[in-house]
Amino acid sequence: MHPTAPKSNRATPSENRAKPRLLLHACCAPCSTAVVERLALDYAISIYFFNPNIYPVAEYLQRRDELLHWCNKVAGIPCLEGEYAPEEWMEQVRGLELEPERGRRCNRCFRLRLQRTAIYAREHGYDLFTTVLSISPHKRHERINRLGLALAARCGIEFYSANFKKQNGFKRSIEISTAQNFYRQNYCGCVFSRPTADA
Ligand code: SF4
Repeated sequence: MHPTAPKSNRATPSENRAKPRLLLHACCAPCSTAVVERLALDYAISIYFFNPNIYPVAEYLQRRDELLHWCNKVAGIPCLEGEYAPEEWMEQVRGLELEPERGRRCNRCFRLRLQRTAIYAREHGYDLFTTVLSISPHKRHERINRLGLALAARCGIEFYSANFKKQNGFKRSIEISTAQNFYRQNYCGCVFSRPTADA
């Protein structure tokens, strides 16, 4: 087994079937690593890459392909891709373009991504869903969890509430990403979060 592969690779397919099925929303490979490592012992994980916020499309493809590669070749877990519809995302955040990161635009962005994950999870027989987003030091886990729990109640599926920064989660994600030589972006994802916003 690769030294940075999650422990789930040790589980047999029959062991995996016995675990609750968790749909894990992920924005990129670096943020996914430590979360998968932490959850794989207790859950049969599928990654859900639904991120219409990411701009430009070349950046979207780079993050998606790296995550796909890691899931397929290292982690050994399924990676599903949601629809890339940046115009829908732009509609959701209209009027909030000038908000700072961590502001109200981010609430709408989280909601769209979590809502789609919750719906996909319910429609495809998962037991619960969650997101890797709380591993980022730039994101408030309380806000993500509040949204996740509200959407779970509305959609009729359980949400796994977490702060993946805890227990050195972010530090561990850096360690694995460095070992894997992952690309590490210098902005959150949307056009408004780029160092030189060009919208
Ligand atoms: S800064 Fe990040 S979380 Fe906030 S709106 Fe942009 S992409 Fe979404």
